[in-house]
Amino acid sequence: MRILVTGGAGYVGSVSVERLLEAGHAVVVLDDLSTGHRAAVPAGAHLVAASYGDEAATADLLERERIDAILHCAARSLVGESIADPARYYRDNVVGGIALLEAARRAGVGRFVFSSTAAVYGVPDATPITENTPLRPINPYGETKRTVEDAIRWYAAAYGLRSVSLRYFNVAGASERNGEVHEPETHLIPNVLRAAEGRTTLTIYGTDYPTPDGTCIRDYIHVADLADAHLLALEATAPDDPRTGAAGEPALALALNLGNGDGFSVLDVLRAAERVVGQPIPHRVGPRRAGDPPILVASNARARDVLGWAPRRDSLEEMIGSAWAWRRRHANGYER
Ligand code: UDP
Repeated sequence: MRILVTGGAGYVGSVSVERLLEAGHAVVVLDDLSTGHRAAVPAGAHLVAASYGDEAATADLLERERIDAILHCAARSLVGESIADPARYYRDNVVGGIALLEAARRAGVGRFVFSSTAAVYGVPDATPITENTPLRPINPYGETKRTVEDAIRWYAAAYGLRSVSLRYFNVAGASERNGEVHEPETHLIPNVLRAAEGRTTLTIYGTDYPTPDGTCIRDYIHVADLADAHLLALEATAPDDPRTGAAGEPALALALNLGNGDGFSVLDVLRAAERVVGQPIPHRVGPRRAGDPPILVASNARARDVLGWAPRRDSLEEMIGSAWAWRRRHANGYER
């Protein structure tokens, strides 16, 4: 396959590009490098440093490169920023997302895999979260992802777009080559490791939640397991694949949770990180962070069933260990 990966210079995108190249596919990365890193794009992929939101230019690129399928990883993805500046999220995620879908339609690209998020569910009534859990996002980030998922579904029915939307839970870990570098960094595991490096003190956002140890529980999934799922999802969009539409029937838009299926508390993460780095990690307890639901854990049964996928690197030690090893090799992130 010839695959366009938007956001292929970002964290999830770059590890997915590695996986696609390994499987023998040709990869074109479309990334404006606003949050991505040129050095994250493997040598085997062709980087086009531009925005996916320019419909005409993207349609030309799809035609010129004879692209068969799109993996759309690019997006704005910070919950707090989305609340402070929703316009940016609607413009980049929704307006940009529709421009990309339109470019695909113009260029006749009928296969699409979309990076969605567990944030589409909001605060669920029950755990684990299945794909039938109502979608009630509580921030513009989740809302804009849901809006693009909705558009994709209608494109399936009307224009025959075959697609899989993948609702990521908490992505963690690193490949040999690529890891997580965000500025600002808001995520737990990078913040724990920064504290281990002596750069900051970790703040635990609340210990009074209705959970066994009082801290929030999340479902962490290794970025390499996510990359495996992307490859399988792209395969499921093949023109003759009944998973995205039987012959003679309208195309189908699939939505699948990608999580480990297991929950870990903030303290579980801290303790596992202390085992990985072999020393105590400085931390303090702070107040709750606004908008954090107590427990978010995926049911991954549908992804297992439909894609034949299973998370293979499912211990916190593997995820944190790979992130730690990567940070030790990249003391300044992607800067040389
Ligand atoms: N968290 C924390 N300290 C931090 C960052 C995160 O205690 O410096 C907590 C946060 O409140 C949440 C969990 O860790 O309960 C995971 O947060 P993260 O931002 O990594 O992912 P989210 O689940 O919000 O997408």
